[in-house]
Amino acid sequence: MLYSGFRVIKEALRGHTGWTPAWRDAEPQPAYDTIIIGGGGHGLATAYYLAKVYGGKRIAVLEKGWIGGGNVGRNTTIIRSNYLLDGNEPFYEFSLKLWEGLEQDINYNAMVSQRGILNLIHSDAQRDAFIRRGNGMLLNGADADLLTTEQIKERYPFLNTENARFPIKGGLAQHRGGTVRHDAVAWGYARAADQLGVDIIQNCEVTGFLIEDGVCSGVETTRGTIKAAKVASCVAGSSSRVMGQAGMRLPIESHVLQAFVSEGLKPLLPGVITFGAGHFYCSQSDKGGLVFGGDIDGYNTYAQRGNLPVVEDVCESGMAIFPMLGRARLLRMWGGIMDMSMDGSPIIDRTHINGLDFNGGWCYGGFKATPASGYVYAHLLATDAPHPTATAYRFDRFNTGLMIDEKGVGNQPNLH
Ligand SMILES: Cc1cc2nc3c(=O)[nH]c(=O)nc-3n(C[C@H](O)[C@H](O)[C@H](O)COP(=O)(O)OP(=O)(O)OC[C@H]3O[C@@H](n4cnc5c(N)ncnc54)[C@H](O)[C@@H]3O)c2cc1C
Repeated sequence: MLYSGFRVIKEALRGHTGWTPAWRDAEPQPAYDTIIIGGGGHGLATAYYLAKVYGGKRIAVLEKGWIGGGNVGRNTTIIRSNYLLDGNEPFYEFSLKLWEGLEQDINYNAMVSQRGILNLIHSDAQRDAFIRRGNGMLLNGADADLLTTEQIKERYPFLNTENARFPIKGGLAQHRGGTVRHDAVAWGYARAADQLGVDIIQNCEVTGFLIEDGVCSGVETTRGTIKAAKVASCVAGSSSRVMGQAGMRLPIESHVLQAFVSEGLKPLLPGVITFGAGHFYCSQSDKGGLVFGGDIDGYNTYAQRGNLPVVEDVCESGMAIFPMLGRARLLRMWGGIMDMSMDGSPIIDRTHINGLDFNGGWCYGGFKATPASGYVYAHLLATDAPHPTATAYRFDRFNTGLMIDEKGVGNQPNLH
């Protein structure tokens, strides 16, 4: 079924009786060519591009819960490609370009909104660093725009530009950044993959791997054994647990990240803003809620809820630039498990076990990567070689020391 404005009107006139389920509720088959573990954004995007771009057949996505129940449905929806390092910037710019054509490509309204992102500058040294980052972005074909305090005041008159501790001295804007409705991304990719014959199997947890003589030939699941020529792990915050079943210890720690939504307010925030002297980012949803977040809680956990000290820290950071935030009531908050890698950058690579590949280490920035992550992972699964934009995301960088440390804080997962 093709979704269109015409279809919406037609269904409205006949009581919405003609809609069909967005994807089939597939039963697990005894064997597939490729099994993708994890029905989050990355797993579903991988299945879609593998079938569409690389002609993959007999593909299954195994999801232990329901589609959209993981971080793809828990994040603060920000997309951008404002990175500094060569290992990252081409990949994230590739992702942003895929976002720009995504809704037409998968015929699904994912509410891709390029409302812009603005990183605020609070010191002269930070301005230098942001200019360098902006130049790095421009060199990689992305857009970057250095704004003055006056330009920021015009667009965001309510910001506290004169704060004694954190005066706003300008900002680095990426006008093509913005937000996307997170769970719609999962549903859109699920529907598009299903239409290409991918089996999406929910309530099917992978509990073990079939590994013999260094070769993986399938998985054990709560719905039985399933054989496959290729098994692709793509479980984000559960990476260490799942790959532990294959005997692998990853350079990844799991941490909780919280998100917050205020009551609905009149439109006031035209784009995404981030605080440069602490960790705080905020946008306004189309329903009017201020959607914001900050740092991870900083201790290892698999719990999907956080603690009050970070709530306080996030709110303090927000109020340093945005004092009226203190007058808004908080409507809801939640947490998600982040797969924090040692250098803050992801891993998309084959493992030492033949037939078992890995995608993870997304830290708290994996939503914006969803289309490119799926695309390049599909490339790896189909060709056994990394995609040109993802050549740096290898396991062996933790042996060679060639880190992709965007923040420059060293091998400290809780600081990235
Ligand atoms: C509060 C919060 C805010 C965030 N904000 C942003 C943001 O603004 N911008 C941004 O770019 N990123 C953001 N992120 C990060 C982003 O959401 C994640 O990096 C990204 O969604 C991870 O990829 P995914 O969608 O595939 O993960 P998930 O949706 O978590 O998918 C993994 C799936 O694997 C399944 N699974 C786990 N174990 C098994 C098993 N054994 N068998 C089968 N299935 C299994 C899980 O049930 C889950 O559905 C945020 C995250 C959080 C929590």
